[in-house]
Amino acid sequence: PQRATEIRSLIRDVPGYPHEPIVFRDITPLLADGPALADVVEAFARLCEGDDGHGVDVVAGMEARGFLLGAPLAMRLGVGFVPLRKAGKLPPPVDRVSYDLEYGSAALELRSGTIRAGARVLVVDDVLATGGTAAAAVELVERCGGHVVAAAFLMELDGLGGRARLAGTAVETLLRVG
Ligand code: IMP
Repeated sequence: PQRATEIRSLIRDVPGYPHEPIVFRDITPLLADGPALADVVEAFARLCEGDDGHGVDVVAGMEARGFLLGAPLAMRLGVGFVPLRKAGKLPPPVDRVSYDLEYGSAALELRSGTIRAGARVLVVDDVLATGGTAAAAVELVERCGGHVVAAAFLMELDGLGGRARLAGTAVETLLRVG
């Protein structure tokens, strides 16, 4: 974004949340700031537009913060938005991909048939950490016949291997946080 330093200042670091040694990156101050939110959405849009852009038919965002960035981006691009929901929230029929967490497992689901075959899909979320969630999102979209042109994140947490986990997918991040 044009004002990366200002954007960074609107992300609140919360040490020890939800438990040690995690430093939680809270984007609610950013969401509450109109110009900053617009700046972030515009920066995502620029990744998709122009000859060098990703050329996107639909945006898919992960529950829940991927909805908050992905839906305004889809509107800005004039394309639709597909929510990738946590397990058990959508009525059937759904397609599902399960993935491992540090403790236990989770799953993402989307409504079957929402992604048309060959659609160029941009996957959006707030934070890329280990990449487990995003890898599951990519797998889910591709299993449904979509083509993931890129995975875009507001923020990439360095040193957690997210980018490597997404090998084979173009990864775009607006900020890197060490
Ligand atoms: P990963 O699967 O380890 O890459 O974690 C990414 C997912 O967890 C994303 O859906 C994020 O929204 C969420 N997440 C991980 N760390 C943070 C954080 O510090 N702040 C906000 N969300 C986070």
